[in-house]
Amino acid sequence: MRTLLYNGRILDPSQDLDLVGSVVIDDDQLDYVGPNLPEVDADEVYDCTGLWITPGLVDPHVHLREPGQEYKETIVTGTQAAAAGGYTTVCCMPNTNPPLDNPALVDFILDRAASPEAGGVFVAPVGALTRGMSEEQLTDLAALKKAGIVAASDEGRPIQSAAVMTRAMEFCVQLNLPVMAHCQDASLAAGGSMNDGAMSAMLGLKGIPRSAEEIVVMRNCILSLHTGCQVHVMRVSTWGAVELVRQAKYLGAPVTCDVAPHHFALTEEMVGDFDTNFKSDPPLRTQLDVDLILQALNDGTIDCISSDHSPHASHEVHAPFAEAPMGHAGLESTVGATLTYLYHTKVLTPLQTIEKLSTAPARILRLEAGTLRPGETPVAQVTILDPDLEWTFDVGRTFSKGKNSPFQGMAFKGKAVATFCGGEIYRDARFDDGRIRQVG
Ligand SMILES: [Zn+2]
Repeated sequence: MRTLLYNGRILDPSQDLDLVGSVVIDDDQLDYVGPNLPEVDADEVYDCTGLWITPGLVDPHVHLREPGQEYKETIVTGTQAAAAGGYTTVCCMPNTNPPLDNPALVDFILDRAASPEAGGVFVAPVGALTRGMSEEQLTDLAALKKAGIVAASDEGRPIQSAAVMTRAMEFCVQLNLPVMAHCQDASLAAGGSMNDGAMSAMLGLKGIPRSAEEIVVMRNCILSLHTGCQVHVMRVSTWGAVELVRQAKYLGAPVTCDVAPHHFALTEEMVGDFDTNFKSDPPLRTQLDVDLILQALNDGTIDCISSDHSPHASHEVHAPFAEAPMGHAGLESTVGATLTYLYHTKVLTPLQTIEKLSTAPARILRLEAGTLRPGETPVAQVTILDPDLEWTFDVGRTFSKGKNSPFQGMAFKGKAVATFCGGEIYRDARFDDGRIRQVG
């Protein structure tokens, strides 16, 4: 089986490639990436005129909820959502029930992800830093790494003790394992449900101050500097957190960070109607935070974009604001939000956009992904994006079980229209309109 993706704009930040040309996938391998060829034998031809052909997208932060919370999401539905969202690799977070703190659970996740009914994307598990995520005893990180984790994290239950985090980082340095840090001081954030400020006071909701995030970002940056541990600060939300990461990088600490779409596109103003779809962790902040996050995306302080895909069941979301769970299903809206709010607004160039959605997260987590160089990924990983497609995001049409989204009903410009991970694993119905033809 030979598949030809013809006459698309090939964007590959890993080789600084931006040209109109073709990609040939032979069985499950990339065979050719370059200018259009006069004649190619292919079984299937995709006319990619006006579309972008990019390395398969990589999401460094998703919650697949399995094991333990299959009513919110499963590895099968989550990976199907990933494929539909343009992703060929997703990193799943360890705060499942039980938490991902032993090698048998890593095996379980990798087996489920490889099952024929799953979405066909790579799942890269992120292990827990402490047993039971209870902050008492470190996990056997060496055994977890051998089983296949790509990083270790305290996501969902941020480690409060600087001493415990120091020991964890010292182990991770030895194992050459990145730490993905959830930066929040529990004593400051306790009981809060939105950004702390005039808006929370007006609505009568307890706030989460920006200091809750920034204190722990600073602590983790300092610990990274002193231990040499690679630390990835997950989904920054305040301008102060961004500034701390900037300073840490300046000092030479091996620190990186990402941002999620709701934190570069939305503000606390959206909480005004007590719509629980706007309840985030960390909370939606202010326009000043958004403005400085956009600047930091542009200047490279923010390395990449994650969905922080956090699906919840409808009965949980339909609750009083203070009681509702935090977070949003994001795998199928992140590309649309990124192209709408970052590419079409000229915050990011096309190459920068793909860098943040694919090449950078792959580099940070040392994944064999994020590139269109033949032979550098285990199988061909390619995403086709229509940068100009105007569509309305509708949770009723998503694969994820989670229908909790702050982008519900919003107009997007730009969409993932086909995803290949080996073979084709997702194709948007609209892509069929005369753009694809069978040959022979
Ligand atoms: Zn998360």
